Amino acid sequence: MGIFNWFKKTSDEKLSKSTTNTIDVKKIKEDNFETNEIDPIYKQEITNGLYPGEIILLWWLKGKPRIEKISNPPLYFKLSYGINVNNSLSKLHALNLLRFSTAEESLPLLTVKELKEILRINNLTMSGKKAELIVKILDNVSSDLLEQQVPYHHMLLTDKGLDISNNYAYIVEAHRDSYFSVVDTIKIQNQFPNILNYNQLKLEYYKKLLPNEKNITLDNVHYLLQKKQIMNALERYKELGLKEYEVHCSLDESTCEVCGEFDGVPLPISKAVIGKNAPPFHNDCRCYITPAFDGLDSSRSIRNPVTGKSELVDYLTYKEYKQKYLNR
Ligand SMILES: [Zn+2]
Ligand SMILES: [Zn+2]
Repeated sequence: MGIFNWFKKTSDEKLSKSTTNTIDVKKIKEDNFETNEIDPIYKQEITNGLYPGEIILLWWLKGKPRIEKISNPPLYFKLSYGINVNNSLSKLHALNLLRFSTAEESLPLLTVKELKEILRINNLTMSGKKAELIVKILDNVSSDLLEQQVPYHHMLLTDKGLDISNNYAYIVEAHRDSYFSVVDTIKIQNQFPNILNYNQLKLEYYKKLLPNEKNITLDNVHYLLQKKQIMNALERYKELGLKEYEVHCSLDESTCEVCGEFDGVPLPISKAVIGKNAPPFHNDCRCYITPAFDGLDSSRSIRNPVTGKSELVDYLTYKEYKQKYLNR
């Protein structure tokens, strides 16, 4: 979803005082559809006249049953990537990137029920695991007969289609990554034309975002981003003439004692030190800060360890939560 949404998410959490860390990716994508125009980056050709959405479509079509028209394609093709799936399907065929499977190739893509039906019409026993059913069919049914008996063929990639799919796999990987955006990935790839590896592209993106950090890895980058975000927030508070900040940790079972210790305690902004009295206190720390405003918190979202669900309760600190809900 992109790092700016990640920042947004974190600030939304501040507002809601939410303790849950889950992100409703589907919801975010739907929201994007309604509010955003198609990003111009999706109208730029990647290779062979293909748009980013068509590279994703190529991946999406692989192994799908052979059909002439796709009736209910995922909405993101149209609303996010701006492509007409059926027009693009024709285009992928015309460019010779797609082919139809042979009956043999289709067997692993069939369900067990469909395989058993083939065994049944050939008077073969229907017992065994999926792989065994396939072997039994291949051993006993001729290719010609099988061509007539498979319920449908599938769409597969030609060698040319496979080449494109492999070379531009970073687009599909970004599409599947709910924490990073396809737009950012393509933009950074344009700046580093020699890099095609998705993780390397992400790393280059973060290096630009965090120019002062020397040793960025995909493992520590969220920590570093959180650190930067908290430092920026503290700077803002100072500019606003605020004197105190407050740490908020998640009220759930996985919050550690180190973080819990600081929850709800007003601390002087001038003495804030990341990792010591300001989050992140460690990698994967979920704490955030707000200015310390006394008495404004009337309720708080907690995770009830008995039900495993989030609840809104009268305001309490981590220590009180721990006593009441975790019996420690
Ligand atoms: Zn912690
Ligand atoms: Zn923490």
